[in-house]
Amino acid sequence: MSSALARKTRIPVCEPFLDGPELDYVIEAVRTNWISSNGRFIREFEEGFSGYVGAKHGIGTTSGTTALHLALVSAGIAAGDEVILPTFTMIASAFALCYIGAIPVFVDAEADTWTLDVDRLEEKVTAKTKAIMAVHIYGHPCDMSALRALCDRRGLLLIVDGAESIGAEVNESRRSTLGDIAAFSFYANKNITTGEGGMVVTDSDKFERNARYFKNLCFPTDGPRNYLHEDIGFNYRMSNLHAAIGAAQLKKADAYVDARRRNAGLYDDGLAGCNLIATPVEKPWAKNCYWMYGVVLTDAATISRDQLMKELGDDGIETRPFFMPMHRQPALKKYGADCSGLFPVADHLSQNGFYLPSSTHLTPETIALICRSLKNSLR
Ligand SMILES: *Cc1c(COP(=O)(O)O)cnc(C)c1O
Repeated sequence: MSSALARKTRIPVCEPFLDGPELDYVIEAVRTNWISSNGRFIREFEEGFSGYVGAKHGIGTTSGTTALHLALVSAGIAAGDEVILPTFTMIASAFALCYIGAIPVFVDAEADTWTLDVDRLEEKVTAKTKAIMAVHIYGHPCDMSALRALCDRRGLLLIVDGAESIGAEVNESRRSTLGDIAAFSFYANKNITTGEGGMVVTDSDKFERNARYFKNLCFPTDGPRNYLHEDIGFNYRMSNLHAAIGAAQLKKADAYVDARRRNAGLYDDGLAGCNLIATPVEKPWAKNCYWMYGVVLTDAATISRDQLMKELGDDGIETRPFFMPMHRQPALKKYGADCSGLFPVADHLSQNGFYLPSSTHLTPETIALICRSLKNSLR
């Protein structure tokens, strides 16, 4: 263990990187008195981000979680509808379904991409299934061509939790990652950030109208302001202050994604030939945006995941374990979700996987040092 390092540095697992006009924009928002949910940065960020991913509409929200809830409501998902999603995802994917009384149906992960296993999906479709929720785990896109074909064949909506996939592509297209409606997160560790924030994107004029209506307490969208509400809505309005940061970040989106991909390449090289860990893949049709660089211990490893994370921590290197799968969540069992199936791949990932520091602005030297420390502990 390199103890000199341990005392000097801490390498955080992921930090925001604000090296553009963020501060100038926030100051402008304050100076001009536009600090709530109107103002030029909202429009600029909504149009800029939807343009960046290739969607017709972008609707800003307060978080990725609220964007996902709003996307589901806007697409017409209702209480009692079944929605199929990966068990290996972040809890917000499933909670968004619970908020509307929909029924989450879990499917196992693929061993190499860690995204939902399309081959195991169709057997989960029932007469009550309304949609599939695809999640591009840690930045690798799901097999959207296969999902699109399945959804078309079975008359299902394709909803995307894109929180981890800013900058990812399928067949050289960002638009191809979006499905019928997608939700993004701009939490501080995502590929671009507003601190807290999210966005719904869609090509559908109808879904867009719904999203703007529901996110603003279902205020009547035309006619006099009579304070009569026909439906139950939410306040999920993004503020101009958050949008100011987003508009600044967006100018650097390509550079940030390139940086995360360069970092992943350096990790790949630094860890090449080590049969004790599996590293992230990139399918020939995919562009992985490497939100997080994960590694999974193979059966050949003798050290436990938790011990390995501890030793890295002693070297000043912060890591995080992979997600706990949805079928193991007490909250979802209590809610009544069917958690009884077998999900061996997700269980394996959650027991043996963790992610390494993945900030945009990591240096090659830091990555080399992390690889050395990791290989030392594996030995
Ligand atoms: C980060 C994340 C979210 C939630 O985003 P918030 O902005 O933190 O609410 C949802 N789904 C996935 C897969 C995420 O990684």
